Amino acid sequence: MKTMTCKQLGGACDKVFKAETFDEMAELSRAHGMQMFQEGDAAHMKVIQEMMVLMNNPEAMKKWLDTKKLEFSALKDD
Ligand SMILES: [Zn+2]
Repeated sequence: MKTMTCKQLGGACDKVFKAETFDEMAELSRAHGMQMFQEGDAAHMKVIQEMMVLMNNPEAMKKWLDTKKLEFSALKDD
């Protein structure tokens, strides 16, 4: 298992996620982001809005994802 925080994944808090694969990690982060969004957490709403802007730019989105995948693969397993 590898560990990343909400912040490391472009989020807004220090919540810790553990996953075997990057896709799993991204899914945990997305689910957490959606929950915080629904709770009206201002910090998370801000980063989610930034992420939505990024998603409108496939080139930038791909670059961002590649960076996060590299970070993930560079992590040591727990
Ligand atoms: Zn968070």
